[in-house]
Amino acid sequence: MTNRISKVALVTGASRGIGAVIARQLASDGFSVAINYASSATEAARLAVELQKAGHQAIAVKADVASAEDVRRMFDEIEAQLGKVDVLVNNAGILKVMPLAQHSDELFDQTFNIHARGTFNTMREAATRLNDGGRIINFSSSTVGLNLPGYAVYIASKAAVESLTQVFAKEMRGRNITVNAVAPGPVATELFLHGKSEEHIQNFARMPPLERLGQPEDIARVVSFLAGPDSEWINGQILRANGGLV
Ligand code: NAP
Repeated sequence: MTNRISKVALVTGASRGIGAVIARQLASDGFSVAINYASSATEAARLAVELQKAGHQAIAVKADVASAEDVRRMFDEIEAQLGKVDVLVNNAGILKVMPLAQHSDELFDQTFNIHARGTFNTMREAATRLNDGGRIINFSSSTVGLNLPGYAVYIASKAAVESLTQVFAKEMRGRNITVNAVAPGPVATELFLHGKSEEHIQNFARMPPLERLGQPEDIARVVSFLAGPDSEWINGQILRANGGLV
């Protein structure tokens, strides 16, 4: 079934956290939404049903963004079920921090494969498959500006995402496609909260002048803006959404 009545948004890593809230937001903005996940099939399917029951078009699509083959299959599946993609949100990510000296080769590869290679895989596919006038919204992190100890590999992988964003924005010349990145500060999701003490969490919450953690909705609203018509003159930018943290 191909439906060109509504535009199509693909949100990677949308089974939970920021991505799930982005999927809800873009659905209520009028997009048909593809909810990508790697392993959380139940959560992704539940979200798709929730959106369908609310009258939206939504599908859950399994793909490890680190795999070029999975990503190609994901685009094929979305095109067959919803139509060609207009908005690509590269939200999938992991956060496993440790001092560089103790970092394993495996974790280095996993972090770079999901963030840098994952963004590369989906953007390379998008280069030929995104509709003209589309939007690409990548995910960096405000930690790139903080240079926190323990975060070296995570930060380096997100710095790579920022570079990919800025160059790809120029390579999309002639297509009327904008390419930007959102760089959140700490957001109250499993990724951020997992393994931290209450004191550690509160220390992060006090850091920005707005004195709270970000909520997924804070970030979803920024993505909604970047995915919509009001942001058409914003291109090749890294938008730090963090309450003034850095
Ligand atoms: P989260 O709650 O842990 O959710 C991560 C999502 O990514 C899940 O849906 C997960 O699905 C998916 N995912 C992980 N590996 C994947 C892969 N290889 N392929 C496809 N999907 C994959 O994380 P979050 O806090 O919402 O973070 C979302 C993004 O924001 C990340 O890029 C993160 O780096 C960035 N960010 C977050 C914060 C924060 O404080 N939360 C701050 C700055 C930046 P499965 O379970 O199915 O794998």
